[in-house]
Amino acid sequence: MTASNARDVEICEVGPRDGLQNIGEFVATDAKIAWIEAEAAAGLPEIEVGSFVNPRLIPQFADIAEVVSAAKRIDGLTVTALVPNLKGAERAAACGVHKLSLPISVSAAHSQANVRKSPQAQVDELRAIVGLRDGLPDGRRFAVTAGLSTVFGCTLQGAVDEAEVIRLAVACAEAGVDDLSLADTVGWADPAQVRRVTRAVIDAVGPGLPVAGHFHNTRGLGLANVLAAYEEGVRTFDACLGGLGGCPYAPGASGNVVTEDLAFMFDRMGIRTGIDLDRLLAARAVLARGLTHTHLTGHLAAAGLPKVRGPGKVATV
Ligand code: ZN
Repeated sequence: MTASNARDVEICEVGPRDGLQNIGEFVATDAKIAWIEAEAAAGLPEIEVGSFVNPRLIPQFADIAEVVSAAKRIDGLTVTALVPNLKGAERAAACGVHKLSLPISVSAAHSQANVRKSPQAQVDELRAIVGLRDGLPDGRRFAVTAGLSTVFGCTLQGAVDEAEVIRLAVACAEAGVDDLSLADTVGWADPAQVRRVTRAVIDAVGPGLPVAGHFHNTRGLGLANVLAAYEEGVRTFDACLGGLGGCPYAPGASGNVVTEDLAFMFDRMGIRTGIDLDRLLAARAVLARGLTHTHLTGHLAAAGLPKVRGPGKVATV
């Protein structure tokens, strides 16, 4: 199996952003770029390469302009970055980022901790970013993703009201976003809840707006939650190579769904990701070289690929 453009689902690697934002050690710029290049070569169609947060708050992203510039040289790769506000969006637009993701916490407590604004004030920020997009000439316009976070619960606030999730999703759709992402920031979601909330959001925003899934594997339900969202029609999923991930402003948040395990699950099901699993596993070594103190996780890497490949076939060992 080789990397291919024929895909039924899109896996977006978010490790260089979600994975690095709460790692204390600064990962060298060359190591970040080598990691991004290795995953793009394995067939990842989209990579969130970092964040345009104030580097005084998170020094890890002080080199974001350089990382974006290198990632943009990779043929066919959609280069995405997180922006916390309009100011970050202006910096990202100046760097020519293809897609900007603005986090909007449904939990008011997490929203204050993360961006020091209410969820509604962050929707206003979203409108301003959409205005920035629409003011750019053809060919220089970026896509805008609203990343709804703490959709399924919040360690600071507790339960999150599903009606508030729907209200904010509709507000983002009306603001003119290109897509919407539903994030289980702290790993509280379960598959039944994912099915219910995802279905309600898709029904509310309509079929024309793509909805993506961002699941953390904090309590081991990451892949089950992905599958639940897939069965409700979601076709884009975030993941982190080696299971990196977390949120510096959400106590207890830990790693994302593991990119390799996610790609393997879809591959076994006959659902095309366009990813070459051998090359993806090899990319772990590239990542590990840039990390001194961080342990990589993942079932596929621990067990290895089955001797017999392909959907529905059982390996005999
Ligand atoms: Zn996350």
